[in-house]
Amino acid sequence: MRRKGLACMAVHTVGTTDTTENTGNAGNTGSAAGNPGHPQQPGRVDLGPAAALSCRECGHRTPLGPVFACAECFGPLEVAYELPAGDPEALRERIAAGPDNIWRYAPLLPVPADVAEKPNLNPGFTKLIKADRLARELGVTGGLHVKDDSGNPTHSFKDRVVAIAVEAARAFGFTTLSCSSTGNLAGAVGAAAARSGFRSCVFIPHDLEAGKVVMAAVYGGDLVGIEGTYDDVNRFCSELIGDPIGEGWGFVNVNLRPYYGEGSKTLAYEICEQLGWRLPDNLVVPIASGSQLTKIDKGLKELIALGLVEEKPYKIFGAQAEGCSPVSRAFKDGHDVVRPVKPDTIAKSLAIGNPADGPYVLDIARRTGGAVEDVNDEQIVDAIKLLARTEGVFAETAGGVTVGVLKKLIETGQLDPSGETVVLNTGDGLKTLDAVAPTTGPSATIRPTLASFREAGLA
Ligand SMILES: *Cc1c(COP(=O)(O)O)cnc(C)c1O
Ligand SMILES: [Zn+2]
Repeated sequence: MRRKGLACMAVHTVGTTDTTENTGNAGNTGSAAGNPGHPQQPGRVDLGPAAALSCRECGHRTPLGPVFACAECFGPLEVAYELPAGDPEALRERIAAGPDNIWRYAPLLPVPADVAEKPNLNPGFTKLIKADRLARELGVTGGLHVKDDSGNPTHSFKDRVVAIAVEAARAFGFTTLSCSSTGNLAGAVGAAAARSGFRSCVFIPHDLEAGKVVMAAVYGGDLVGIEGTYDDVNRFCSELIGDPIGEGWGFVNVNLRPYYGEGSKTLAYEICEQLGWRLPDNLVVPIASGSQLTKIDKGLKELIALGLVEEKPYKIFGAQAEGCSPVSRAFKDGHDVVRPVKPDTIAKSLAIGNPADGPYVLDIARRTGGAVEDVNDEQIVDAIKLLARTEGVFAETAGGVTVGVLKKLIETGQLDPSGETVVLNTGDGLKTLDAVAPTTGPSATIRPTLASFREAGLA
């Protein structure tokens, strides 16, 4: 069997603590800790429609708990549901009557039914911008939308995944929230912990952009820079989970990863609802670990299965930076394993050299008829400016990657511009000012006189 995803990581488990202070947790039974290889008492964990964890490789089911790898085959676990049956129109109405954030989809997420009443950051329901001017520049004739996740509480898509992980952390009785981060996740965890009453301690590569470091530190939790790449940070966190130091710690993207990942489904739900409960033809999605892309596909499939949208083919395209493009490389070479790389790109939020979900991304791109492409740093900067100039959206480097890749996919005939297309912007340009600062600035600096203005050639 081909080894996939998290199978390459060591399996560690975390015992839940019976400390429930700070987490606002009343329902913890203290028996939810998963421990692969050992019998486990099923906990009375209320995570709404989430029924169990199931292995993406062999289908083996495990009770809900803070585990991420299958006890049978070490494959990655994901949340399995008992989703609401019945009239799709009634479900659409129930969703539409919900709050203007991701909790409108609570019936489809691993969260308790009263989640919207708990203290959290309420991310989501960000703008879907009809991008006619960008479409004209790129030659898209079938309609182009930008899903702009810079509007989330900490200005990246990461607030979605963290909000779901927080509910799992409450349910399992964790008291500290943690993560390995390329920058945005650290800020999202810091803010969510502050709001929800957890301690936080987050880990980043030491050389991130100032905007990301400040955002991660300002919420008052502990922020630790690690001398190494993201992949070193991630390996360190795996070690911490296996050590007594990590007891009571919920690492949102490691031992809570199955729950965390589900937050990305809300991007699929929102895009379809905002299109009037329709599937687009093409989606262009950035790839760091590949989690977001795989869960967008999962969300779209659920909407079809529930009858919330009419079934039709859709294509998912993955976007990477050339300086960290292991999935794009494997796609182009026709491989189904992803060979790790050492990242070197200005798109630091996507700089994961050993992406856990890479093989699943390849499956989805191939199955849906999409592709995986990459663009270089110069093309990323050009695309940031193109999006800003045409639509008034200032994207971080990850948004430059998706818009740049969309342009390249059209130019190379890989994406049909007569289809309705959605391109994701997952972060805010204010966090990566350095990427554009050297080539952006005032048109002129003048004395405060009309003559001086005329001299500058701007009249
Ligand atoms: C984390 C992140 C992504 C996607 O990450 P995955 O690990 O692939 O889910 C995309 N854009 C930005 C800005 C991010 O911070
Ligand atoms: Zn398995």
